[in-house]
Amino acid sequence: MALNVVMLGPPASGKGTQAARLAQARGIPKISTGDILREAAQSGSELGLRAKALMDRGELLNDEEMIAIVRERLARPDAARGFILDGFPRTVPQAQALDRMMQGEPIVIIDLAVPDADLLKRMQTRRVCSNCASIAEPGWSKDTCARCGGQLVTRADDEDERVRQHRLEVYARESKPLLDYYRGRPTFQSINGAQPPDRVAHELAARIDALAPVASERRP
Ligand code: AMP
Repeated sequence: MALNVVMLGPPASGKGTQAARLAQARGIPKISTGDILREAAQSGSELGLRAKALMDRGELLNDEEMIAIVRERLARPDAARGFILDGFPRTVPQAQALDRMMQGEPIVIIDLAVPDADLLKRMQTRRVCSNCASIAEPGWSKDTCARCGGQLVTRADDEDERVRQHRLEVYARESKPLLDYYRGRPTFQSINGAQPPDRVAHELAARIDALAPVASERRP
């Protein structure tokens, strides 16, 4: 049975870190729309350059484009046994499109809840690998990725205080309504993301295991 997971939560709530751990533990791909867009930006493609301009201001890309990117990615063979989506959906229309793509196949929805003050602090100190996109964890050196030895850098959209604040506003306006969209489902779970990463990972794994019987039922 495929395990399909959607990670919800504000910027710097730990979605990427937890998605990477879970993906590795379960042997399924982590699909991060932010990573896909940052890669496109590095490649200098037309999409990448447009995406970079929006990302650097903390704005979202349009729904149609994001839906097309995710539809194409989920159709690849490695996603057939399941996937962890990190950063998608970010709007209700994206969630509706994902439901259509899933055609009743179950998805586990995980919300990571973290207070705004913690999020702002995390965005300010977050370091990411410029080579493999790993997110630095407590205990790593400031400059070197513990996974691949690449250089740790600050994300462009984490650098400016106004952009950090704006991303929280965009989250509140565009993405928070997703909680109401999903809350009534038996596979919706909210986790306290303010705990240390190991604790969050432990709780996440336990909730997913507990959900296994429900998560294997197809939605009508
Ligand atoms: P993230 O790495 O998830 O924080 O995403 C970084 C940036 O990429 C966001 O601030 C948006 O500009 C853009 N982005 C990522 N995912 C989406 C999405 N699903 N819809 C629209 N924009 C997105």
